[in-house]
Amino acid sequence: MRSPDGTAPGDTGVPGPVRVARAAAPDFDAAPMVALRRDLHAHPELGFEERRTSDVVAARLAAWGIPVQRGLARTGVIGIVHGRDGGACGRAIGLRADMDALPIAEHNRFAHASRHAGVMHACGHDGHTAMLLAAAQHLARHRRFDGTVVLIFQPAEEGRGGAQAMVAEGLFERHPMEAVFGLHNWPGYPAGSLACSPGPVMASANVFRIVVHGVGGHAAGAYLAIDPVPVACQIVAGLQHVVARNKSPLDTAVVSVTMLHAGEARNVIPDRCTIEGTVRAYRGEVLDLIERRMREVAEHGCAAYGARCEFEFIRRAPPLVNHEREARFAARVIERLVGPSMARPQEPAMASEDFAFMLQAQAGAYAFIGNGDGAHRLPDHGAGPCMLHNPSYDFNDALLPLGAAYWIGLVEGWLGDGAEAPSTTGSAPAPAATPSRPSATATGTAGA
Ligand SMILES: [Zn+2]
Ligand SMILES: [Zn+2]
Repeated sequence: MRSPDGTAPGDTGVPGPVRVARAAAPDFDAAPMVALRRDLHAHPELGFEERRTSDVVAARLAAWGIPVQRGLARTGVIGIVHGRDGGACGRAIGLRADMDALPIAEHNRFAHASRHAGVMHACGHDGHTAMLLAAAQHLARHRRFDGTVVLIFQPAEEGRGGAQAMVAEGLFERHPMEAVFGLHNWPGYPAGSLACSPGPVMASANVFRIVVHGVGGHAAGAYLAIDPVPVACQIVAGLQHVVARNKSPLDTAVVSVTMLHAGEARNVIPDRCTIEGTVRAYRGEVLDLIERRMREVAEHGCAAYGARCEFEFIRRAPPLVNHEREARFAARVIERLVGPSMARPQEPAMASEDFAFMLQAQAGAYAFIGNGDGAHRLPDHGAGPCMLHNPSYDFNDALLPLGAAYWIGLVEGWLGDGAEAPSTTGSAPAPAATPSRPSATATGTAGA
C-alpha cells in the first residue's frame, strides 16, 4: 500500500547512511544523537526565541571542552574548536546549523512530538543542530586538523533574518575564515545521499502586498459602490500573466498569491481587498521586471475600475549561490564519503534560504542531505507526506551519523593532512545567479 505521498513503505531501502558514516567516523554512537535530536524536536522554538535550544547547545559544547560565545544575533551560539596546533596556523573554516522552528501545529502523535502548541520543527533544524553537535564532539575529541573550526549555531532562519543579523553583527570579522559551509536535509533525495554543486541552488525570496481601495456599500446597490473584490480577482489573474507572458521562459520565477482578504458580511460590499503572496526568482534583472510589471498590473487594474491602489514589494533574501571552488571541494568530500552513486547533482530549488546572506559575505557552499521518501516514519506519524514545512514532517534520524561525518570530512579535508585541502589564498567569485540546469528545477519549501 502506498502512503499518502505516493511512496511505498521500504522504498528508501537504504540502510547505507549509518553504515557509511560509521566507517568514516568509527566512534559514533547514534543513540545519544537520536535522543538529542528528539529532545530538540519536542521543544521547538521560533526564531530569536531559541532560549532553551541555545542553552542545550552551549551546555553540550562546554561539556566537551569547547569554548562558547553567546549573544551574536541574540540567541546565536558560536563554538570554537582549535586543531592540534591550537589554531596557531591561523587558518579557519565555519560550519553553520540553523536552530529555529516554525509556527505550525504538529500532526504527529509519537513520543517526541512538539510539546509547544502551534510550534514545530517542520524543517529539520532539530536534525541540523544535532548533526553539528555530534561533529563538534568528534572534532574536539580527535582534533585531526590544524587551525580552527568555527561552529555557527544560527537562530531565526525561517524568515526572521538570523543569518543577516549574524553577518551584520560581525560574524566574519570576529571569526575570520576561509570558507563557510551549510547543510539542509532534503526530502525526496534518497537517505544516504548528499549533493553539492557550484552555482545557484536556492531562489531569492520576496513578498508583496496589494491593497485595492474601493468604496463600500450595500450588496444590493453595487452600482453605487466601487467593489474591490472583482478588481482584486482581475489583478490576481493578471499577476499570473507576468510570469507566463512577460519574462523569458528560460528564466526561472514563480509568483504565488497566497492570501486574499476582503469583507465581513454577505450583504456588504467591502471598501478594500488585500492581495498578498511571494515571488521567487534567481536573476536580479528578472526580479526587477516582475516587480515593475506587477506594479503596473495592480495600479492600472485599479485605475480601470476607479479603485485606488496601494502596492508594496519587499525583497527578503537574495538567491543562494554556491561558490565554485568550495562547492567542488564539498562534492569531493561527499563522493569520498558516500561513493559516486549517492553523490547527487544538486538540483536548484525555488525555495529560499538565508544562508544566502552568509555566501554574499564569505566564500562557501551549501549542501543537501537526502531525508528519504518517508519510509522512516514512526507509528503515530500524522497522515501526509514528509515534506519540509508539512505538519507531519519528521527528520530522518538515520542521517545523523552521515551528516556529522560530512562536517568532519569537510574539516579534515580542508584543514587536515589530506591532499584535498585547497590553497589558503583567494576564492573564486560566486557565479551569476542563473540556474545552470533549468529543466531540473526542483520544488521545495526550505527556508522562508
Ligand atoms: Zn530549513
Ligand atoms: Zn524551512
